[in-house]
Amino acid sequence: MAFLNEGYLKLKAGYLFPEIGRRVREYQTAHPDARIIRMGIGDVTRPLAPSVIKAFHEAVEEMGNESTFKGYGPEQGYEFLRKAIVDNEFISRGVNIDIDEIFISDGSKCDTGNILDIFGKNNRVAIADPVYPVYVDTNVMDGRTGPMLENGYYENIVYMPCKEENNFLPQIPSQPVDIIYLCFPNNPTGATIDKATLKKWVDFALEHRAIILYDAAYEAYISDATLPHSIFEIEGARECAIEFRSFSKTAGFTGTRCAYTILPKSVKAYDPQGNAHPLHALWLRRQTTKFNGVSYPVQKAAAAIYTDTGKKEVRDTIAYYMENAAIMRKSLESVGFKVFGGINAPYLWVKTKDNMGSWEFFDYLLHKLQIVGTPGAGFGPSGEGYIRFSAFANRDSVLEFTDRIKKLA
Ligand code: PLP
Repeated sequence: MAFLNEGYLKLKAGYLFPEIGRRVREYQTAHPDARIIRMGIGDVTRPLAPSVIKAFHEAVEEMGNESTFKGYGPEQGYEFLRKAIVDNEFISRGVNIDIDEIFISDGSKCDTGNILDIFGKNNRVAIADPVYPVYVDTNVMDGRTGPMLENGYYENIVYMPCKEENNFLPQIPSQPVDIIYLCFPNNPTGATIDKATLKKWVDFALEHRAIILYDAAYEAYISDATLPHSIFEIEGARECAIEFRSFSKTAGFTGTRCAYTILPKSVKAYDPQGNAHPLHALWLRRQTTKFNGVSYPVQKAAAAIYTDTGKKEVRDTIAYYMENAAIMRKSLESVGFKVFGGINAPYLWVKTKDNMGSWEFFDYLLHKLQIVGTPGAGFGPSGEGYIRFSAFANRDSVLEFTDRIKKLA
C-alpha cells in the first residue's frame, strides 16, 4: 500500500482564481456583448525586449551548430549570467555577493517552495497576511502546519497581519520564530520597507538565529532611491537571509522562466545537537541532485538585460507599467477611493467602496462597470475589505478602466 503526503490533504482547494474565472464566465454568458476588462491578473503583458529576443535567437542558433552546441550546463547557472547579476544588481549597489552565492533557476515560485527541502520540519514559520499564497501552501505540503482553522489560518503558522495602521507592514512577532518570509515590494499590497525597518528584522533574526526568506521579485519597480532593493544592503543580512529574485516581472520572463536565489555562504542553520552548518552547501547539494539547470538560450536571453540597450529597454517597459499604475491611482482617488501601493510596485491595493466585503465589491465592479479585480480576501483573512488591481495591462485597457471608474463619482 502506498501512503500519500498528508500535507496535501490539508490544503484548501485553490479557490481564488478559479472562482474569479467562474464568476466572470457566468456574467459573460448572461451578457454576451459586455466588454469586460481584466485588471486583476499578476502576469505581464508587454513582449520581451528586442535585445532579449536577439540574444535568445543567437543562442538558439548556437544550439544548432556542432561547434557551439551545449548539453547539460552547470546546475547553478552559467557563469556569464551569474557574473552579470553580481556586477549589475549587487556590486553596483555596494553589496558584496560572490558569484558562487548565486543560483540560477526556472522561477522564484519554485525556489521559494523548494528551499523548504533544506529546512527541518520543526521550524516555526512566520508569514504575512495577506500574502503571496505559495509561502503558505508549500509549508502545508511540507508538513510544517496543522489543519486550516475556522479563521482561515493554518495551525502552527505564526501569521503577521498587515494592516492599514501599520502601512501594511508585518510586525515583528512577539514570540521567537525560526523562518520569516518577507516580500518587498509586496504582492498583493504594494507596500515597501525602508532600510531602518528592514534592519530591525535582520536584528530580530540574528537574535533568534532565525532565517529571513526575502522575496524581492518586484525590486525593479522601486522608484524611491532610499528604499533597499536587496536585503543584503542591510548590515548583518549576510548571516541570516536568503533572497529570491526573478526575471519574470523585471523583464517579462513569466513565460520564458528564469530567476535566481542568493544564498550567502555565511548563512547557517542548526542540527539537533546545536551545531551550525552553512546552508549554502545543502542548497548546492539539493540543486545538483534535483535540478539540471535552466536552458542555455534562456540564460543568454536573461543576460541581455544587462547590456546597455537591454537595460534601457527593460527600464522603459517598467516605466510603461508604472505609468499605468499612476493613471489608475489618480482615477481611483478622484472618485474617493483610498489607494495604497502602485508607487514602488505594480499593484494597487484599494479599500472597497462603503466597507463592502472583497467579493461583494468584486461582484459590484463586474456587474456595474465590467471591471475585474482580485478580491483581497483571496490573499488571506486580513485582505478582507480590499481589492487588488494590477498595472500589468495595456494602455487602452487602463484608459478604459479610468473612464469606467469615473462613473462611480
Ligand atoms: N514571488 C512573488 C511575490 C510573486 O508575486 C511571484 C509571481 O507572481 C513570484 C514570486 C513568482 O515568480 P516566478 O515567475 O519567478 O516564478
